[in-house]
Amino acid sequence: MYIHIYLFSELVASNMYKEPLWNYDNESKWPGLKCKEGGKRQSPIDIRTSDVVKDYTKKFIKYGSLKLNGYHRALVSGINNGHTVQFSSEGEEAIHPTVTGGPLQHLYRLEQLHFHWLSEHSVNGNKYPMEIHFVHVRADLTVGDALVSKDGLAILSVFCNVQAELDDHQQEASAEIMQYIPKLLDTGDRISGVLMDMTKLMSPNMQSYYTYAGSLTSPECNEAVIWIIFDTPIYLSDADYRMFGKVGVGRHNFRSLQRLNHHLVFQPVTSHITTPQLVRVFDDAFKMLAEFFKNINL
Ligand SMILES: [Zn+2]
Repeated sequence: MYIHIYLFSELVASNMYKEPLWNYDNESKWPGLKCKEGGKRQSPIDIRTSDVVKDYTKKFIKYGSLKLNGYHRALVSGINNGHTVQFSSEGEEAIHPTVTGGPLQHLYRLEQLHFHWLSEHSVNGNKYPMEIHFVHVRADLTVGDALVSKDGLAILSVFCNVQAELDDHQQEASAEIMQYIPKLLDTGDRISGVLMDMTKLMSPNMQSYYTYAGSLTSPECNEAVIWIIFDTPIYLSDADYRMFGKVGVGRHNFRSLQRLNHHLVFQPVTSHITTPQLVRVFDDAFKMLAEFFKNINL
């Protein structure tokens, strides 16, 4: 049952705020053996584009193009859970957004989306300023069963770049999300009954992505996740990004990069190769964050 406490506080829509039981300052104290001792498919990882396999033989991407449903009008509630700002599906399961296709054999329902800043995954050693995770659970499984199944969860991941000025198209993500962030600055803050157009937060190039079998990046690091990481980012303005700097979640909210082990990362044949246009990272991550946030009153 211990697991379920974490589940319901971290993965699934939670109606009760609880004091965080773990934090990003000390990953060695995270609950869950897989978090502490690692495993064979822990996430996040650094994606080396020269090692990515174009999946001509349909070894991993067996189910055609990715298909999203219901993302235009998703009913969600928002919470600052002390680790991130999270928007969870509300209402009947039947109206929750779904995804299938690509590497996904089954239908998956959107449980929640949340933000990491900096990004958790990196590309050729570079991180983006932000990564959005859309967490889905296999529609034919309970959450408990999904967490112990090798493909129980599907996480769609969208990178965000930051620019001083945005053009009209780039502004769409910002317009959709930034109206809510100022209401979720403090741990425990909540809003409900939000109708969100999540297509505005999706990558403009939905059929171009990296995909691999990995894990949750927060306790209990279950190795149950099919990751789908879009290579084309969306945009936030400098001012938007600074607003995230005011969200009270501690010093940062990304898990450290995990060993590649036998991870194979695949790409649809139709994917283009994107040259990442990103921020510096690795050892520099903390320096960069400190630099970035130094003028912000947290
Ligand atoms: Zn995440």
